[in-house]
Amino acid sequence: MRPVLNSLASACAVIALAVSLPALAAPTISAAAAAADAAPLPETVPSDLPRTIRPTHYSIEITPDAKALTFAGKVGIDVRVFSASDTLVLHGSGLKVSSAKLVPQAGGAPIVLKVTADDAAQHLNFAAPAAIQPGSYRLDLAYTGTIGTQPSGLFALDYPDKRTGKTVRGLFTQFEAPDARRFVPSFDEPSYKATFDLAAVVPADQMALSNMPVAKTQALGSGRKRVTFATTPRMSSYLLFFGVGDFERSAKMASDGVEVGIVAPAGSGTQAAYARDALAEILPWYDDYFGVKFPLPKLDNIAAPGSSQFFGAMENWGAIMTFERILLLDPATTSPSGLQDIYNTQAHETAHQWFGDLVTMAWWDDIWLNEGFASWASDKITDHFHPEWNWKLGGVDGREAAMSQDALPTTHPVVQHIRTASEMEQAFDSITYQKGQATIAMLEDYVGQDTWRNGIRGYMAKHAYANTQSKDLWAAIEGAGGKDVDLIAEAFTRTPGVPLLRVSAAACKGGQTRLQLAQDAFSLDPSDRAGQKPTWPLPLLIRVGDQAPTRHLMSGKNDSVTLPGCAPVLVNSGQLGYYRTLYDAASLARLTAGFGSLAPIDQYGLLRDNLSLSTAGYQDMAAGLNLLVAVPTTADATLSGKVAAQWRGVYDLLADGQAKDAFGALVSRTWSGRLKTLGFDPVAGEALTDTQLRAQLVETLGAVRDPQVGAEARRRLQALATDPAALNGPLKRVWLEAAARQATRGDWDLMRAQAGKVTSIVERQLYYSALGLASDEALANATLALAISGTPDATSASQMITSVGRVHPELAFDFVRAHQDAVNTLIEHAGRPRFIARLVAASTEPTMVPKLQAYAATLPADEAKPVIQALTSLKQRLATRSAQRAQTAAWLAKHR
Ligand SMILES: [Zn+2]
Repeated sequence: MRPVLNSLASACAVIALAVSLPALAAPTISAAAAAADAAPLPETVPSDLPRTIRPTHYSIEITPDAKALTFAGKVGIDVRVFSASDTLVLHGSGLKVSSAKLVPQAGGAPIVLKVTADDAAQHLNFAAPAAIQPGSYRLDLAYTGTIGTQPSGLFALDYPDKRTGKTVRGLFTQFEAPDARRFVPSFDEPSYKATFDLAAVVPADQMALSNMPVAKTQALGSGRKRVTFATTPRMSSYLLFFGVGDFERSAKMASDGVEVGIVAPAGSGTQAAYARDALAEILPWYDDYFGVKFPLPKLDNIAAPGSSQFFGAMENWGAIMTFERILLLDPATTSPSGLQDIYNTQAHETAHQWFGDLVTMAWWDDIWLNEGFASWASDKITDHFHPEWNWKLGGVDGREAAMSQDALPTTHPVVQHIRTASEMEQAFDSITYQKGQATIAMLEDYVGQDTWRNGIRGYMAKHAYANTQSKDLWAAIEGAGGKDVDLIAEAFTRTPGVPLLRVSAAACKGGQTRLQLAQDAFSLDPSDRAGQKPTWPLPLLIRVGDQAPTRHLMSGKNDSVTLPGCAPVLVNSGQLGYYRTLYDAASLARLTAGFGSLAPIDQYGLLRDNLSLSTAGYQDMAAGLNLLVAVPTTADATLSGKVAAQWRGVYDLLADGQAKDAFGALVSRTWSGRLKTLGFDPVAGEALTDTQLRAQLVETLGAVRDPQVGAEARRRLQALATDPAALNGPLKRVWLEAAARQATRGDWDLMRAQAGKVTSIVERQLYYSALGLASDEALANATLALAISGTPDATSASQMITSVGRVHPELAFDFVRAHQDAVNTLIEHAGRPRFIARLVAASTEPTMVPKLQAYAATLPADEAKPVIQALTSLKQRLATRSAQRAQTAAWLAKHR
């Protein structure tokens, strides 16, 4: 799955593709998979079902009634019963079973079962009149269920038809995690792999899709047809997919003989071409990397109109689903980073086709293995095919996102104990994705790219169609020759927290530099810094000046290392180590003096690391701010854009007043020249990274109230009154947001009217979200009231509330708590506390502390976790904010 967070990107090196390769074969069923079918689920794998029975095949037929939002289903499940029992337990949620019987495969009378539902456990219990004896059976069930309006189970999305503007409805499924049980009674856990036959009765003029191609279509009369899909390979229930609607498909044959297709709402036309061609490029590269060919005959990526607060895309095997915004390229709205997201998100979901779908974690405790790996792999392939994007810099953003969660007392280990549905939902966080990814990138760098890839190939072959735990991956990498992998991996995945490395360099003697190293733990909470801290084995890559870096594995609390050369010392060269580096003042001053000559990745990594150390109070703000001004404003476009965003981050730390205004003016003086050189509008034929830098500069300068950018944004917004296409182009979102921040009532009305007129759901959501950014509190209130009025669709409405939270966190929080029932209808059930907790991410208001405490007290312990985390983070901001502000003002006084 691909979460909605910050861009997930990592640093990793380019793999050289061998030019001539033997034709790759599809994977064969591994011995591990065959053995699993023959025995009950082992006790080492968590499960909330009795271990007496195992499914091997499902034959499902469903008949949705899209208008009534209900469906009827029939399923025959081939099962093996391993020990005698008079009850069968399956997962089921919101399903009503009308008939149930168990048919012995060897012949004999069917056993009629009596069903009761345990709603709290999401179980369906089937009682037999006498003990069911071990053997093979088919469990035949007829049932009905409901179609939701949020992405879990079978759900509907309403959207404007691109050709007519009329509202139409498409159906889709989302089963991770764990919601296949809302679609079909099932053994809905990742280790219960089985094959699936799916058939559906649907309107004759619509397109139906699933993991496999259509095997048969029968006309049924009265405008209906039955579509039967080919049998899937052995897979987990959370990977099943079904969709139906008024779609069109743009397909092409990839070089490995697999057909790739982009399925889009009818009328999308050429908007699918970019993603289709990218997918055809990505798929064969992974065939080679993993050493086994993609085993399905086709790979579709289905564009869902709408959005989720929590995820962007889902890796259903052979039928990826991606929200339209990050799959279709619309010249009217797609930004340069949107285009990169299309590429990178497809690369992420395609990596899952092997890592997750072919080989799956045994239980959700190891979900990081899926997500960390797919995030790492997608960045690797993006960097391979698009070196000009300088994608590796994003690895630093990923590290920072993970550390901001990992350095709080509420953090958790990468491998965590997960039991409830709510815990599963919360597991899709920056520790799972970005710390997981950072750990993998660090390990690959440590063992070397070839050893790592050979280990991955061995892992795929050994566990194809089966389930694994983290230790199986470490064993495979060590089997390929990787040293210390288990040691480092265990420490970084089992011990929560962020290592802090204190570095001090002695004066250079005899042409050699001696470093003293001391290990501690980095904490954002000043009250959490004393006492015993864990020690990690730290793989260091140390560079002296421009000499080749030296590798050193630090294993204790204290260490020292002597290196040839007297130039400035850089400890985390390449920025792949997951730790913070706190230099002594003299060493940092030497790095700062020669900053512009460091590699872009090291400039950006050092900058982020030191800004974080400064804001957390480990050093004065001046240390981080001196690096901020040390990056040349003529730097590479990607680096410049990211650095400009950091300027804005410091601006946001300051309280309204003189210092903030002065800092804003400094940002304008520093960056408006670069924007002037680029111009306000894209130039034909310019590099994508220049378009992207322009967007970033408009965003940064707009946020710090640069008068020229503000006036230009207002002029462009007002042109909408006479020309609805006035804002169209790759900078649509940033101009709109810059105008929205300073919106008057008239501007707000104009944007609202525009949202009602446009026939693209993506464009409509841009306008609705922009409404929430107005700094005028009356307009923020008007946006909140509009969100629950029923006019905007559910997914736009929840985005509007989130938008208000970015500018007025307390207002958004209070509104949601006061209108909880209305807001609940807009948010996926399991994600509600997370949605509300996120609203206050930017708050520095002490009165929020008791409000969050009161809200957390209303929730069960497992659901309260994201709220407790938001509370801890808020307290930390309150504890450090005044020092940050005073130190920044003092620094500013010297830099006027
Ligand atoms: Zn994923």
